[in-house]
Amino acid sequence: MPQTEFTAGKTTCPYCGVGCGVKVSLADGKPVVAGDEDHPANYGKLCLKGQSLAETLSLDDRLLYPIVDGVQTKWSQALDTVAYKFSRTIEEYGPESVAFYVSGQLLTEDYYVVNKFVKGFLGTGNIDTNSRLCMASSVAGHKRAFGTDTVPGCYEDLELTDLVILVGSNLAWCHPVLFQRIDAAREANPQLKIINLDPRRTATADMANVHLQLNPDSDTALYGGLLKYLAESNQGDPKYLDSCTGLDESLNAVSDLGIAEVSRLTGLDKAEIENFYKEFAATNKVVSVYSQGVNQSAGGTDKVNAITNCHLYTGRIGKPGCGPFSITGQPNAMGGREVGGLANMLACHMELAEPDHRSIVQSFWDSPAIANKPGLTAVDLFDAVHAGKIRALWVMATNPLVSMPDADFVKDALKRCDFVVQSEVVNNNDTGEFAHVQLPAHAWGEKDGTVTNSERCISRQKKFRKAPGETRADWWAVAEVAKRLGYTESFAYNTPADIFAEYAELSGKENHGSRDFDISAYADIDNQTYEDLSPFYWPARKSEAVPVKPVRMFADGKFFTDDTHGRFIPSTAITSCVKTSSTELYFNTGRSRDQWHTMTRTGSSATLANHTAEPYIEIHAIDAEAHKLQSADIVSVSNRNGDFDARVVVTDRVAAGSVFSPMHWCAPFASAGRINTVTNRVTDPISRQPALKHSKVAIKKREFCCYGFIVSKEDVAVEHLDYFARARCEGGWRAEFALTNCDDPASLPGKLLRPTRCETLTLQDQSTGRYSYLTFKDAMLTAAIIIDSVPVAAARSWLAGFLTVPQKSNERHRLLAGLKPPDTQDHGMLVCSCMMVGESAIQEAVLNGCCTVNSVGDVTAAGTNCGSCRGDIAALIKQRQNVGQAV
Ligand code: SF4
Repeated sequence: MPQTEFTAGKTTCPYCGVGCGVKVSLADGKPVVAGDEDHPANYGKLCLKGQSLAETLSLDDRLLYPIVDGVQTKWSQALDTVAYKFSRTIEEYGPESVAFYVSGQLLTEDYYVVNKFVKGFLGTGNIDTNSRLCMASSVAGHKRAFGTDTVPGCYEDLELTDLVILVGSNLAWCHPVLFQRIDAAREANPQLKIINLDPRRTATADMANVHLQLNPDSDTALYGGLLKYLAESNQGDPKYLDSCTGLDESLNAVSDLGIAEVSRLTGLDKAEIENFYKEFAATNKVVSVYSQGVNQSAGGTDKVNAITNCHLYTGRIGKPGCGPFSITGQPNAMGGREVGGLANMLACHMELAEPDHRSIVQSFWDSPAIANKPGLTAVDLFDAVHAGKIRALWVMATNPLVSMPDADFVKDALKRCDFVVQSEVVNNNDTGEFAHVQLPAHAWGEKDGTVTNSERCISRQKKFRKAPGETRADWWAVAEVAKRLGYTESFAYNTPADIFAEYAELSGKENHGSRDFDISAYADIDNQTYEDLSPFYWPARKSEAVPVKPVRMFADGKFFTDDTHGRFIPSTAITSCVKTSSTELYFNTGRSRDQWHTMTRTGSSATLANHTAEPYIEIHAIDAEAHKLQSADIVSVSNRNGDFDARVVVTDRVAAGSVFSPMHWCAPFASAGRINTVTNRVTDPISRQPALKHSKVAIKKREFCCYGFIVSKEDVAVEHLDYFARARCEGGWRAEFALTNCDDPASLPGKLLRPTRCETLTLQDQSTGRYSYLTFKDAMLTAAIIIDSVPVAAARSWLAGFLTVPQKSNERHRLLAGLKPPDTQDHGMLVCSCMMVGESAIQEAVLNGCCTVNSVGDVTAAGTNCGSCRGDIAALIKQRQNVGQAV
């Protein structure tokens, strides 16, 4: 393994849009990660994903050298190849025949350089980002209402408010630190209420004061009805009514949305709706926080505007404790928006479709051929690749074969593409298989630049490790290709500070307060100031002091539209939310608590795999019975697009008629876990964001002749099996598997494990066919395999624990059985991964009288560290209380 060196310092977390500050210290030369007490996003807190970052720094599976056509090569040759292929393609087929698909994982400096290159020098708008899948509807909604893509509020508003409405957001799992801030504020202010609107009963719903389990996609109807209610009860704020246009049309659009109609569309009781409307009307300080449940919809932009309409109407915007608040999924989704990462944008919130903006940018860049129209957005871009219109594609820091809707179509598109470049940090992701050139990129800890979080706070993401192998910054690779095409002067950057300074200067060009995004205060930044840069909020205009405290926008009732008026936007409730009698199931997608996107980083952490180690599908008991399914069965989930496999979890967290799976699993971790094989290429007509949360699927039990579970110190060769799901565990690997044909279970260990000289123990139960196989080196377990004709019953975590803890000789028969001794407490499913507290201990605490999350924490320590599991603890308390009532 190559040598690496670490240094202590401060940086930011590379996962969600909360943008937590991270402190890296060293112990025995190894990095130790903790929250940065000085960072205004998290004040020292980190969720489990953040806390486990040090576990993701392994160089196993890293792409460390450039590869061309499968052969390791030198950078110069790889870059020559890329430059040649792109220039030849453009010469032959024109600039619209090339495209870039980039990512919210890029730092702002990477984003800026690649956008400049594509839009200003290749002369095409064909660069889009995976943030299109995440928050394009928020961008479009903001632009319609405010004239610009401006997030009005800041995190502090979530603490200063009296009512937080979480719309389509599982904040407790997906933005845990922010949720913990709200929860702590609620403890300090019992007036503060949380209302959660979500078709699923998530961990967030369990922590909310009220959960409204509305039909999928019916939020527009609920907020549309709210606007009507507010108007009819005279709740308008005269200042904002005067400073906004479009109210009459918007009220006309909701004229049919009386409470009875809203009830029909949302599936909620009339009383629930009325109470929600009364609560909103009666509370002066309200924040509506929303994320993917709003954005990932065929009517996502209208959903955003249905929400902003109610805040504009009541003037609950631009004030402490008020506002619509879009929370982004990715660490630099906001930076990507600011820098023009979306196909319709130019840098610094300028518009590709605006001639004035094009002229400002082109003259600043001194560019030969600025794109004169918006480029293709993500879904259309891959459609064009599939149709052969895009012939050269550069994919950066994203894995579209897993994350794009209709993922097999995308796979087919990449197969057909003449030339695919991939800039990546790992050598085994799904997309790499189709890349002609792979460029090794810096990963977290090596990257050096800035990111913007959901509250417009720009922070440094700094390197603290010597870059391994021949990995390079993404901006460097793009600049080198640009130089090879003759643009040496325009891409002569030496450091990320050079890029940031240029970007900051552009943001102030012909701005004079007319555009929201302005960081021109940093136009003259030098390397040292950049190195020491503290988090700051934009706008940071040259003529003004740089804000170090959060900035609220629109407090003066003025917006960034031509006439400075805000806009009420007529928003149409989509009616696909009304349930039909179809036997198909609504398929909802989302995230799991401790994984991140397509697992390229989180998949390498044993701590994070403790929570969920296998793709799963949640299904209601009514549907499970109808499909003759029970928990632990493996099902195929399919529609005309494709199919995937997942383990069944029967639960009342989803409504009857709906199923849910998280989106993370990819080729290295599961045989067929890519859930986006079944999502549709349907997009919102305005934002072009795909409706990832709304497909219909059929579900069928997969029949296997045997099932297996394995733990091993060495990685296990499960790839050739009919079904597998593999995960890290402390000291090794664990995997679930299943086979459709297996005449001789005793032959399997030889196929799954490398031959060793270890001591071996086996046991075959003749009556059931259950077969166990153990290997030991001295007192340590090195591998355990249990194979059965039904899904394997075994104490998995207990077994895996023996990879790192010696077992006693009299325990070996128990290991063969895969069962704990009766006097060992069964911890049940792990709930708190920080404190290693399982379901059983929490249930016992509740039985003994603990009736709050804090009191459970006092007794068991669960939920007392990062807090990510507090929603799950709340759910167990509720579950127990319901049982008590039923008894
Ligand atoms: Fe990272 Fe967790 Fe903070 Fe998100 S909430 S930025 S994942 S530590």
